Amino acid sequence: MTELPVPVFDDLWGPFWKELVDGRLTMPLCPNGHRFFVPEPVCPTCLSATWSWSPAAGRGSLYSWSVVHRAPVADVATPYVIAVVDLDEGWTLMTHLVDVAPGRPLLAGDRVALRITHRGGWALPTFALEEDQ
Ligand SMILES: [Zn+2]
Repeated sequence: MTELPVPVFDDLWGPFWKELVDGRLTMPLCPNGHRFFVPEPVCPTCLSATWSWSPAAGRGSLYSWSVVHRAPVADVATPYVIAVVDLDEGWTLMTHLVDVAPGRPLLAGDRVALRITHRGGWALPTFALEEDQ
């Protein structure tokens, strides 16, 4: 098996990962109000190159998910839930849903909230069901 990939703190992604380590979720926001993710050199809607990182509330709804029983890397416990979350600000994030009780049914539209997972010197934007917060 391969090892778990780690975030790249480059010019494009660095601010996103640094803010997560400090406990904040951010999203690209262009001067014309377009939110998008993943970060791109220019806004995919209006091509503005002057976008900046904007705070996100870290709340949203479960759009889709899959329970993984065989991890692609050795140091990840299974089963775990990969999810697509629609954030309240109108952007979408593929993430992990954490602390889901075994057998707990998931429904599209379930409310979720950010629960950052810290790993060594970096962090992942993971989510948990709001009712379990
Ligand atoms: Zn734009």
